[in-house]
Amino acid sequence: MRMRIRPILLVWAIGVIGGMALQGRSAAQDENPNRPPSRAGLPPGQVDVHSWGNPHQIRVRHVSLRLRVDFESRTISGTATLDLDRSPECPPEADLWLDTRGLAIRSVVAPRPGGEPVSLPFRLEVPQVPEEERLLFPSGARSDGSPIHGTPLVIESIGQAEGRVAIAFETSPDASALQWLTPAQTAGGRSPFLFSQSQAIHARSWIPLQDSPGVRVTYDAIVEVAGPGVAGLKAVMSADGNFGTSRADGRRAPEPEPGRFSFSMERPIPPYLIALAVGDLEFRPLGDRAGVYAEPALIEAAAFEFADTPAMIATTEERFGPYRWGRYDLLVLPPSFPFGGMENPMLTFATPTILAGDRSLVSLVAHELAHSWSGNLVTNATWDDFWLNEGFTSYLERRIIEDVFGADRAEMEQVLALDGLRDELSELDERDQVLHIDLWGRDPDENVTSVPYDKGALFLRELERAFGRDRFDDFLRGYFDRFAFQSITTGQFERHLVDHLFEAEPEAARRIDLRSWLDAPGLPPIDEPTSGRLAAVDRQAKAWLAGDLEARELDTKDWSTQEWLHFLGAMPADLPASRVGELDRALMLTQRGNAEIACAWLELTIRAGYGEADARLDRFLTTIGRRKFLMPLYKAMVDAGQLDRARTIYAMARPKYHPIAVESLDLLLGDPGDR
Ligand SMILES: [Zn+2]
Repeated sequence: MRMRIRPILLVWAIGVIGGMALQGRSAAQDENPNRPPSRAGLPPGQVDVHSWGNPHQIRVRHVSLRLRVDFESRTISGTATLDLDRSPECPPEADLWLDTRGLAIRSVVAPRPGGEPVSLPFRLEVPQVPEEERLLFPSGARSDGSPIHGTPLVIESIGQAEGRVAIAFETSPDASALQWLTPAQTAGGRSPFLFSQSQAIHARSWIPLQDSPGVRVTYDAIVEVAGPGVAGLKAVMSADGNFGTSRADGRRAPEPEPGRFSFSMERPIPPYLIALAVGDLEFRPLGDRAGVYAEPALIEAAAFEFADTPAMIATTEERFGPYRWGRYDLLVLPPSFPFGGMENPMLTFATPTILAGDRSLVSLVAHELAHSWSGNLVTNATWDDFWLNEGFTSYLERRIIEDVFGADRAEMEQVLALDGLRDELSELDERDQVLHIDLWGRDPDENVTSVPYDKGALFLRELERAFGRDRFDDFLRGYFDRFAFQSITTGQFERHLVDHLFEAEPEAARRIDLRSWLDAPGLPPIDEPTSGRLAAVDRQAKAWLAGDLEARELDTKDWSTQEWLHFLGAMPADLPASRVGELDRALMLTQRGNAEIACAWLELTIRAGYGEADARLDRFLTTIGRRKFLMPLYKAMVDAGQLDRARTIYAMARPKYHPIAVESLDLLLGDPGDR
């Protein structure tokens, strides 16, 4: 384990030593130079306990990137030139505080138009926070002992910089946002692949900036791709300029020079939405303003699966206001992507596990598209407000599904989500069941549970029921207009809700207990969702469990993925292996390719000790890196007393998993290096 972090420590050491001489000088002027600027008295949205940044004094406004992507050393090097806004209250001697993790900082200069750039002193070390402000600052360590929030880069004498500073840096090969894939880990098998995943606080591992969702930036980038075997690879970003598309103003993106690509994002976004991927990519349009990127081996399947995307955009605009980002494209990533999708603006990153061949899993596209309103347009100001991103988006997702695929399908997804939420609530700590969560001292990636998503969506569904759909849709449109391109807190949302909905209709407002929805664990009383189609599945499941029906008599011919999932979810945890075998022989479940069904089925086989599916389980866990599937399967193995087997498979698969999935699995199974 320690082996794995040594390169990072080395890089830290370089930074600290590099800054040391300079630090001595300022130490003479200040008895505690390593104390961050006070946060006492700042309003809640200005205090992000997951960032070292000091945007209340000096705020990063624009990031200009010149990057060289090197597949051989697995590093990105280059410069980030930051445009800065200084607050009127900022003291003249203030330093600029940025976030980094594992970055080597080569130099910091203040560019001078028409003159020589001036070097600025900097230091790179975790500061001493005064005890009385401890709860206002980052704190805590990861499972490998490194600080959760990385190391601040403090740039001194920033007053000389005239609003712009250029930082030359290089990433570590272990950068937590970057996954470097060998050709064997891609669908095509011929070329390497790189992708970034910056949410929640990983942008700082590849770009030095104020890595807080409350600090919105515009950006531009020039990306060069280097290393053996990279000829023909293409870079894409969450921005204008991706190949095959037109820019927002209608101009065609220029043909990229070989190995050199340029991008610009002119709308202010939170740093966690800066995204880059490089690989052997093709593009297929899905309409005038939508399209899909994928490896050649997957492009046809992807274009088929996502054909409904233009209809989804149209229906979301009709209900919730204009799509404000120009184009909407999707990028299908290799299987090691740890999430289902990531809503990088203009370019959703998606797992290939939703390519089911029957468009049954495209609610993920509805979800990522909905983020173009909730999350990307109106953003959580801190990670404690994460439910504002995910609860709104999960609610919008179901509304889009209802419009495009019908009420039946939306109801099924709602019921399944509630089942999942209730299961998870029964296992979560009380503090993790709260929508407006307190994540001080913790990694915000730990809050990726059903609570911000499905409890959040249920809250909005209850509001819709209390105030009526038309009224609530008006409210949502107004909310997106009012806070467009801003980052807001739960408190700001609450004030807007009270001012624009509760005060106008006090009668309906009495039906909603805001405090228990926002601040309490558990689930307040709800209007229980139902689905006729899932009720029919329940009847069949009961009949089979009672022995009134043979497995081959189950009428599964027209079942959707949702019905299969519900059927498997209705099986008791202690179903014996012999009965699991009956299902398998009649319904060929071990053979199924649909990743959602496969995951639910394999979990059942593990709990039952049904060994016939073991080979399929091995294959699944070693070829798919989506954390949503990995966690329940490994956990089922641990619960079933198969810890050794789980560790054996994990040791094999771990090098292929994304660092975010690895972090979660190390916690569950123990880091192999420590044993
Ligand atoms: Zn989401």
